[in-house]
Amino acid sequence: MTAPGPLHEALAALSLVDHHCHGAVTADLALGEFESLITEGAAWPGISPFDSPVGVAVRRHCAPLLDLPRHVPPADYLARRSALGWREVNRRFLAAAGAEAFCVDTGYAPHPLTSPAELAEAAGAAGHEVVRLEQVAEAVAARGVDADGYAEVFRAAAEEAVRRPGVVAVKSVAAYRTGFALDPARPRDAEVTEAARRWLAQGGRLADPVLVRQLLWTAVDLGLPLQLHTGFGDADVRLHRADPALLTDWLRLTAGTIPVLLLHCWPFQRQAAYLATVFEQVYLDVGLALHYTGPARARAVLEEALEITPFRKLLYSSDAYGVAEFHHLGALSFRRGLAELLQARVDADELSLPDAVRIATWTGRDNARRLYGLPPSEPSRDPSGRPTRKV
Ligand SMILES: [Zn+2]
Repeated sequence: MTAPGPLHEALAALSLVDHHCHGAVTADLALGEFESLITEGAAWPGISPFDSPVGVAVRRHCAPLLDLPRHVPPADYLARRSALGWREVNRRFLAAAGAEAFCVDTGYAPHPLTSPAELAEAAGAAGHEVVRLEQVAEAVAARGVDADGYAEVFRAAAEEAVRRPGVVAVKSVAAYRTGFALDPARPRDAEVTEAARRWLAQGGRLADPVLVRQLLWTAVDLGLPLQLHTGFGDADVRLHRADPALLTDWLRLTAGTIPVLLLHCWPFQRQAAYLATVFEQVYLDVGLALHYTGPARARAVLEEALEITPFRKLLYSSDAYGVAEFHHLGALSFRRGLAELLQARVDADELSLPDAVRIATWTGRDNARRLYGLPPSEPSRDPSGRPTRKV
């Protein structure tokens, strides 16, 4: 590990924009409930999610924020978490994340979660909303619509959803529903009507390839940045179909339209880096992988993401869901990983220090500010009064 230097200080002092995350659970959690939230798999009998890279990272890097020794056993960690109560736990981790803004995906909530405003308030940051388009489509179907009217009613509902105050982007989970090996063309009206007829008769979640294509093209028409889940996710995703390189033909057709933000990407961060290098509208992050690899390996993932990516094209996200530990752990892993790799390049004279600081600031904050049109802000983000955080 590179010794701490000016890049660690610069990244420790930088207010981040976490451009993709979810809410934190608004309830105290038993050990088993907490374990189920720190894995993309499940808490299988005899195999605790604590015995994994993310589990040891929680015990190492989150325990001190609950006034516990590093590497504390899981049972002690959960006992202290419950004693403090979820409000105080959320406040501590969200403040420690040091974000000036969170862009919150509100479309996935199997648990009771903080709203974007509640998340932001606990962190002393700004909260923005990202509208998940599959949820809009499914709400349209649930309210009742006929197949002939589906396309127009969905488009109107999406337009209404993005007019809500605080909405800065839309998101699709097409990777989960069909994968990206789709016909890239905008579907014809008759195709959409026929597909809608099948889906509305069958019910269930939106997973028809024609309707998913229509959803992606509706995102283009809406004109807002589009976040796309790619790569790593839970067992519901078929990883080989979530490779962002499968979007190549669609990206050709949509060149010159909306910004497309490839989320997570791992293990396809190199494919995503290629796309961000050759398509003006493509950006990427390595959220989710940051806390699942932890500070011990975040540098390696970021290094691959940055091998060829233009520096205005990489963003920071935590993709934290459920436990506020992940809003903190994502930020810590990002700051530390990026500081280590940039400091090493400065030490090797591959990069000047001012250039390295500029890259850190773009990646952690300014690329997201520019893309989402977020105002610069200096929130009172550190209630403990510490001027910077340790990276
Ligand atoms: Zn997410």
